[in-house]
Amino acid sequence: MPTQTYTLSKLQMYDECPQKYKLCYIDKVHIIEPPNNSSQKGNNLHNIINYSLKGMDVTKLLGALTAQEKLLWHNFKTSDIKNYKYVASEYSFNLKLDEYWLTGRIDALFEYDGNFIIIDWKTGEYFSPENVKFQTSFYLLCIYEILKAKNIIKTPEELSLHYVDLASNSVVKIKFDDFSYTQYKNQILTIINKINEGKSFFCNKTAKCKNCRYYRACPYL
Ligand code: SF4
Repeated sequence: MPTQTYTLSKLQMYDECPQKYKLCYIDKVHIIEPPNNSSQKGNNLHNIINYSLKGMDVTKLLGALTAQEKLLWHNFKTSDIKNYKYVASEYSFNLKLDEYWLTGRIDALFEYDGNFIIIDWKTGEYFSPENVKFQTSFYLLCIYEILKAKNIIKTPEELSLHYVDLASNSVVKIKFDDFSYTQYKNQILTIINKINEGKSFFCNKTAKCKNCRYYRACPYL
């Protein structure tokens, strides 16, 4: 069997609902969604932050921002990030975990006081770390494996993840340690094994179903 590649969105979808994963990736049910203004706003900000971190002049781009986007930009410019040492932004990675390939991209990586910090910008109206638990596991595990393989860090404690919520101008800091490393690795490998077994994609109806884009195609509703 060829080596398989797993993205964050693929694994996250299975973690959220195995049936949703099946409808999307196996049955390939195609759902056309209306354009989402808030995700467009997020993309604009992410792009400008990325260009700025890479040293490009973004003055002209800033002129095209809405008043709300300008506030997010202001919160970015005045955040603690200015005290950290820039390492990379929009950093794409591939790494082998056991016999599987994991692929993804983080918003940015910084160094501070000898430790490394993954930064994830949040630009939506409401952010809760509870809603991104799988993303947290995936980013910390993958970036740790990459930095450790390059001898840049030795222990999980040297890495953390900061969710920088530009809308509320606040930061959620997630620490990492040996226990989390084992837990996250097991969690990701368990999901991959379940996907590969392909035996059951059952999912109980939850409160999230009403916002699921596969609602009309779901056999469990
Ligand atoms: S409607 Fe609910 S059970 Fe069905 S695919 Fe979506 S999240 Fe899963």
